[in-house]
Amino acid sequence: MPELPEVETTVNGIKPWLENKRIQKINVYNPSLRWAIPDDLPEKYLTQKITSISRRAKYILIHLETKATLILHLGMSGSLMIINNETPLAKHDHFEMIMDDGTILRFNDPRRFGCVLDSQDFKNHKLIYKLGPEPLLPDFDGQYLKKKSLNKTQAVKNFIMDGHIVVGVGNIYASESLFIAGIHPNKPAGKVSLAKYKQLALVIKQVLAQAIQSGGTTLKDFINADGKPGYFAQELKVYGRKDLPCVNCGKKILQKTIGQRSTFYCSLCQK
Ligand SMILES: [Zn+2]
Repeated sequence: MPELPEVETTVNGIKPWLENKRIQKINVYNPSLRWAIPDDLPEKYLTQKITSISRRAKYILIHLETKATLILHLGMSGSLMIINNETPLAKHDHFEMIMDDGTILRFNDPRRFGCVLDSQDFKNHKLIYKLGPEPLLPDFDGQYLKKKSLNKTQAVKNFIMDGHIVVGVGNIYASESLFIAGIHPNKPAGKVSLAKYKQLALVIKQVLAQAIQSGGTTLKDFINADGKPGYFAQELKVYGRKDLPCVNCGKKILQKTIGQRSTFYCSLCQK
């Protein structure tokens, strides 16, 4: 599943190909995504200029000169490609936007959990306005986590994966961050100390920043016809390492389901 670092890399990858260009044509091949692509979307934004492209949580925001915004999500299996008109349509290509210089942004999504929506006021869009802070920005820190966790009995892993608390901390990043910060994933969120939350916030920032950095090489793929960004091969310290020795202490890594998600941890290093 594309996580925040893949989405960030996708945004960085498509930006130079689309910004300051005008939309010549929009083709919808299959509107039935997680939410249907609005019927009027293909006609509505013709000839409009793309002024900028940004990211909020895992939403890709394509801002237009009229202040309207296209909101794209890659869902479980989606990807965006920058191609030209010589690239034949592939299975699961659902949407494309052709720019005035012939550049095409094409959206492929085998499982169709992604979306392509539009908004005249994206900040107040129902998918956007309730989102918690961005993990890489300064307002996300240990103090903030401590404040939000007061009296909370839910497992700290579920707490940091809740998009109302902080966006973009997926299952793998949650396991990895809690391991590095030495916090047991099942510990009640309200029982984690301020010092530990300070450490955890820093670790989350580092883990995500590292993944974004390692994704730098996939940016090159965007100029290829098959320019799909591969999901980043991470060097994982704990995730997926059930029964293997802990990299810190050598004890066997345990696997447990917390909040219906597979969780990996070391019972000696994480308290
Ligand atoms: Zn250990």
